[in-house]
Amino acid sequence: MHIIILGPPGSGKGTQAQRIASGMGLKHLSTGDLLRDSVADGKELGTKARAFMERGLLVPDEIILGLIKGELASLNGEGWILDGFPRTQLQAEALSEILEEKGVDIDHILLIDVDPDVVVRRVLGRRVCQDCNAVYNTATLEEGKKEICGKCGGRLVKRADDEEDTIRRRFEVYKEQTSPVLGYYDKRYGGHITIEGAGDIDEITAEIIRKIK
Ligand code: AMP
Repeated sequence: MHIIILGPPGSGKGTQAQRIASGMGLKHLSTGDLLRDSVADGKELGTKARAFMERGLLVPDEIILGLIKGELASLNGEGWILDGFPRTQLQAEALSEILEEKGVDIDHILLIDVDPDVVVRRVLGRRVCQDCNAVYNTATLEEGKKEICGKCGGRLVKRADDEEDTIRRRFEVYKEQTSPVLGYYDKRYGGHITIEGAGDIDEITAEIIRKIK
C-alpha cells in the first residue's frame, strides 16, 4: 500500500503516520525526520536546510527531491507512507513522474485537518526523542517522565521550529504552498480522505485504518 499523509504543522500527521506504518507494516518516510537527521549529523545538506527550517520556511524543492529520490530508490517494493512530502505542487509533480517510472500507484491521500489554535497549543507542548524520533506531548507525559523517551530512553527535546511565531508562519506557508497540492491530487485521483485531527489519538488512528482498509 502507498499512502500520502498531508496536514498543517502540528496536525498530528507524523504521529499518525508512525502508527499506521507500524500497524500495517509500511515504511514511514518523513522528509522532516530525514532533514532533522541530516542537521544532527552535521551533513552539508542539513546545514543548508537548517536555516529554512528554523524560520518556518520550506526547504528548497531540489534539496527535498534529492533526499526523497534516494529514499524511494533504496526500497525493495515495500509499501510506504509519505509524511510531510509533497509540500509544493512542483514536489507533487516530480513524485508523480518518479512513481510513473516505477509503475507505482498511490492508494490513498489523507488529510489530517485541524484548527490553527489547536495546533499552536499542541505544538508548544510537543517533544521529540533525539534518538528514535518518537513524538510526545507534555500534556500527556507523566510527571517526572517529561524528558525521557518511553520507547528507547533517549532524551526528549523541543524542536527548534516549535516556537509560537514560527508555528504561525508555518501555518501560513502551509496554506499558501501546500494546500494547492490537495487540489492537484483531487484532479489527478478524484479526491482525498479528510480526517478530523482534533480528537483522541487512538480514535484518529482507528478511523484512518477503517477508512483505508
Ligand atoms: P515536519 O517535521 O514535516 O513538520 O517538517 C519540519 C520542517 O522541515 C518544515 O517546516 C520544513 O522547513 C522542512 N520540510 C519538511 N518536509 C519538507 C518538504 N517536503 N518540502 C520542504 N520543506 C520540508
